[in-house]
Amino acid sequence: MSTIAERLAQIKGALPEEVALVAVSKYHSQEAINDAYKAGQRIFGESRAQELLPKYEALPKDIAWHFIGHLQANKVKYIAPFVSLIHAVDKESLLLEINKQGQRHGRVIPCLLQLHVAQEETKYGFSIEELEAFLSKGTWRELAHVQIAGLMCMASNTDDEERIRCDFQQANNCFEQVKTTYFPDSNTFCLRSWGMSGDYPIAIEEGSNMVRIGSAIFCDD
Ligand SMILES: *Cc1c(COP(=O)(O)O)cnc(C)c1O
Repeated sequence: MSTIAERLAQIKGALPEEVALVAVSKYHSQEAINDAYKAGQRIFGESRAQELLPKYEALPKDIAWHFIGHLQANKVKYIAPFVSLIHAVDKESLLLEINKQGQRHGRVIPCLLQLHVAQEETKYGFSIEELEAFLSKGTWRELAHVQIAGLMCMASNTDDEERIRCDFQQANNCFEQVKTTYFPDSNTFCLRSWGMSGDYPIAIEEGSNMVRIGSAIFCDD
């Protein structure tokens, strides 16, 4: 048996200083989030707007809420007033909607582009070719209310560590290439969001500087 605070301390202690920890609190209670908050955690990740809103209302206002899941365009308006980072932008139409809602609220909303590197058919995200097409088209350059702050991906859902490593390497290579080509003089394109409870040590070895960890913090097993 261990507590949320203990598990959090153990994970934080093992993360390199430059790696940010998003505590993924989806499906977990406000009480559990408060335990992590009292232990010093300030970044929390949620994947459904209808679950995030009541938590945002009830919990301390210095929490940075990250939206980490698949986001439908019609839900953007609910989170636009306060969300700190949207991790999984997977199409241009979604970015346009985030920009529109950012404008309505007088904000610039930081976003990551989700890259599809896993072997599964079902996961969301741009393929490397689609990402290249989207970036070279350049519409994003005119959007004043979104800031593209990096890339996000999920590895294949497998026990095969080499497969997982390979997925993250692809994402990291893509990040370097995108940075060189499209953001050469920017310090704001800097986030590499990969790694979850089961694979974050590998993700960090392969360039991650933002890990999204849920069950290893919130589930006692
Ligand atoms: C749920 C979720 C996580 C956290 O997964 P754990 O295995 O519980 O650490 C990370 N990223 C995304 C996109 C998720 O949906």
